[in-house]
Amino acid sequence: MTSTKSILLFLLLLFFTSCKEKPPVTNEFGLVIHGGAGALEKGMYTPEEEEGYKKVLNEALEKGYSILEQNGTSLDAVEAVINILEDSPLFNAGKGAVFTSNGINELDAAIMDGSTLNAGTIARVTRVKNPITLARAVMEKSEHVMMVGDGAEKFAEENGIKLVDPSYFFTQKRWDSLQRIKAKEKDNKQSLLDSFDEDHKFGTVGCVALDKHGNLAAGTSTGGMTNKKYGRVGDVPIIGAGTFADNKSCAISATGWGEYFIRLSVAKDISANIEYKGMSLEDAADLVIHKKLENLGGDGGVIGIDTQGNITTTFNSKGMFRAYKLNNTKKYIGIYGNN
Ligand code: ASP
Repeated sequence: MTSTKSILLFLLLLFFTSCKEKPPVTNEFGLVIHGGAGALEKGMYTPEEEEGYKKVLNEALEKGYSILEQNGTSLDAVEAVINILEDSPLFNAGKGAVFTSNGINELDAAIMDGSTLNAGTIARVTRVKNPITLARAVMEKSEHVMMVGDGAEKFAEENGIKLVDPSYFFTQKRWDSLQRIKAKEKDNKQSLLDSFDEDHKFGTVGCVALDKHGNLAAGTSTGGMTNKKYGRVGDVPIIGAGTFADNKSCAISATGWGEYFIRLSVAKDISANIEYKGMSLEDAADLVIHKKLENLGGDGGVIGIDTQGNITTTFNSKGMFRAYKLNNTKKYIGIYGNN
C-alpha cells in the first residue's frame, strides 16, 4: 500500500514537473507586424484611408503567413513582410520615409535570427530601395553586423541589391510634414517630436515571426523621425534597442521615439526579463513600455512573439498600426487604442 502510494506520488510529481518544463504551445507558427505607433485617434482618417492602411497591412500579413504555412523560415517571412511595407508610400520606411532637417531621406533597418543570434543592420542609406534586404545581406554575406552610409550602399551595389535615385522616396505628405514642423521650430514651439502632433506618427514598420521549425526572427525598417538632424541614427538598427530576437526568450520589433528606446535597450530588456526572471512575454513588455519607458518620458510600442507563439502588441501612445495571424488564434488588424 505504502509503495503504491509512493509510486502514485512519484507519477504525480513527474506529471507536474513535465508540465512545468514544457509550457503548452499556444501557436506553432505565426507572425505579428506593426506600421508604427503615435498620435492615432479614431476620426483622424476617413473610412477609405483606414481601409487603405488595413489593406496593405493585410497584404503583408498574408504574405508572411503563407511563407510560414509552407514551411518557410521566420527570416524569409520577416523580410517579405517588410518589403511590402517598405514599398507602400503609407508607412515611414522605404518609399514614404520621413525627411531629415535638411530635406533628405536617411533610412535605417535591422534583422535578427533568433536561432543563431546573427544580426545585420544598416543606417543612413539614401539610395537602397529595400533597406531590410540590405540588412539581411550584411548579416548573411559580410563578417559584420552594422554598415552605414556610403559603405553600406557600396556593399549593396556589390551584392546586387536594388538602388534607386533618392527622389524615389519622396512623398508630398512627408514633405509637408517637415515644412509644418520647421514652421513650428521657428516659433520655438517644437523641433523634433511631439507624439500628440498629427505630424508625429512614428510610422516605422516591423515584423516578428515564429516558424514551424521553432525559430524566431525580428526585423524593423524606418526613415527615422521627421526633422531629425543630419547623421542621427535611431533605435531601429541598434540591436537590443529597437530590434532583437533570441529563441531563448522572444523576438521584438519596436516603434517610437528612438532615443528613449536606445537609452533603455528596450528590446533586450524585455528579452532579459523573460530569460532571467521567467516573466511572460506580455508582462515583460508591459513592464518595459508602461513603466520604464513611460517613467523616462518616452512613447511608442513593441510587437513580440515567443517560441510558444504567445504574442504582445503593447504601446503607450494613442495607437499603433498592428496586425497578427497565428495558426491557432484569430487574425487581427488594428490601428487605435482599443481596436
Ligand atoms: N523608432 C524610430 C526612430 O526613432 C521612429 C519610429 O518608430 O517611427 O528612428
